[in-house]
Amino acid sequence: VFVTIEGPDGAGKTSAIKKLERMLKKNLQVDLIVTREPGGIPIAEKIRQIILDPKNMEMDERTEALLYAAARRQHLIEKILPALEKNTFVLCDRFVDSSLAYQGAGRKIGVEAVASINQFATEGLTPDLTLYLDVDPETGLNRIQKGRTQAELDRLDQESAVFHQRVQHEYLKLAEQFPERIVTINARKGLDQVVTECYQVIKQKYAD
Ligand code: C5P
Ligand code: MG
Repeated sequence: VFVTIEGPDGAGKTSAIKKLERMLKKNLQVDLIVTREPGGIPIAEKIRQIILDPKNMEMDERTEALLYAAARRQHLIEKILPALEKNTFVLCDRFVDSSLAYQGAGRKIGVEAVASINQFATEGLTPDLTLYLDVDPETGLNRIQKGRTQAELDRLDQESAVFHQRVQHEYLKLAEQFPERIVTINARKGLDQVVTECYQVIKQKYAD
């Protein structure tokens, strides 16, 4: 089973995933790996450093989209697909929907164009389930002051409020477009509540 967690900056994906991992391992006794994008394996973590370096803020937006897709492909080939083949439950922090929202809508490359390079990168592999942690930019951005490196904060500072609005708007659109796959969770609620809801959704779908 391939489950992804999506959401704007400050939605609490990373914190939620940590707790969710413990809950799933304890209660469902599944063989589970947790991974993240961009990253998850050395090559993709290196690409992540290049993309997220605030010194590279001038990077062309299509170059950026291609690097995300490249990191995604290598991560898929080296880690996600082998795990899925062994029937391991894969929980991944971000996947293609992030690129549709951030590069397609946020950077205004166009969702179709970004979908098409990602089709090439993933050969069409789609998550079985996506938990979308929905938060408005104001709430999200206020949360992320802690737990980030200075480089990450500098980078976020350079992106405008409308950028983050476009990201959230696109996520909501995707959730509407793919209701079978994407479950929206209100992430303005506290972490424990969010994690419980994520857990319930996964349990309902896969525990039998
Ligand atoms: O997932 P995480 O919050 O660690 O992502 C790191 C940064 O990468 C975030 O600030 C996010 O805005 C950015 N990002 C992006 N496009 C993606 C994925 C992440 O701009 N496709
Ligand atoms: Mg995170």
